[in-house]
Amino acid sequence: KLSSREFRGQDTVIEVGGVRIGGGKIAIMAGPCAVESEEQIMYTAQKVKEAGGHILRGGAFKPRTSPYSFQGLGKEGLKLLAKAREETGLPVVTEALGIEELELVAEYADIIQIGARNMQNFRLLEAVGKLRKPVLLKRGMMSTIEELLMSAEYILAQGNYQVILCERGIRTFEPSTRNTLDLSSVPIIKKQSHLPVVVDPSHGTGRSDLVIPMSLAAIVAGADGLLVEVHPNPIEALSDGPQSITPEMFAELVDHLRRILPVL
Ligand code: PEP
Ligand code: MN
Repeated sequence: KLSSREFRGQDTVIEVGGVRIGGGKIAIMAGPCAVESEEQIMYTAQKVKEAGGHILRGGAFKPRTSPYSFQGLGKEGLKLLAKAREETGLPVVTEALGIEELELVAEYADIIQIGARNMQNFRLLEAVGKLRKPVLLKRGMMSTIEELLMSAEYILAQGNYQVILCERGIRTFEPSTRNTLDLSSVPIIKKQSHLPVVVDPSHGTGRSDLVIPMSLAAIVAGADGLLVEVHPNPIEALSDGPQSITPEMFAELVDHLRRILPVL
């Protein structure tokens, strides 16, 4: 298989806007769950940059459980992300929900996110496989590691080798957390595959108080980076407030990481 260590022994390193993902460096992707306003995204981007984050995250098209919940700003959100990139120099990762808006998202994004709910949307995977742009592929909340790797295969098979895998937690019977963050997947995937792996402790736990400890654990387990939700005012967030950390907590997280990681 194209994703396997047998096919490629060396770690795949993905370069985006001067940031390297994989191959020993740690890439920190951070930002709000959703882009909500110009003020919100510009302020958060600035804070992420100041604290030492490498890539800005933010959803413009949101996969919400309820059709009555905030669905994202759409194209306007993409434009605001581009503006935040201009201001801070941070490359941008944002989700494409479907093939319909893939071209539009690809125009603005430096990394195209395929969400957990779309991990087995095989037509969408083939479509991003035809692009020549990095893809962040999130593990489905009910998917095995093998299924995640097979989904990556759909992208690689179309000639796009710039795939970053993301562990974001799976559904279990444990109600204390939104998902159970399966950190054992990190060393398992790293053993089987040359692709970089990042961990999302925000969706992985659903709890802002667990983001720092699980981030540290993820890096110690061998993750190549993190995807963290940061919001200037989590209580007022239009999505995923309970798992969003403040810019101050994010700075604290990066400080913690610097203490254990001379490479950062
Ligand atoms: C997100 O990153 O905001 C998101 C919706 O994540 P997931 O697809 O992992 O639920
Ligand atoms: Mn979210």
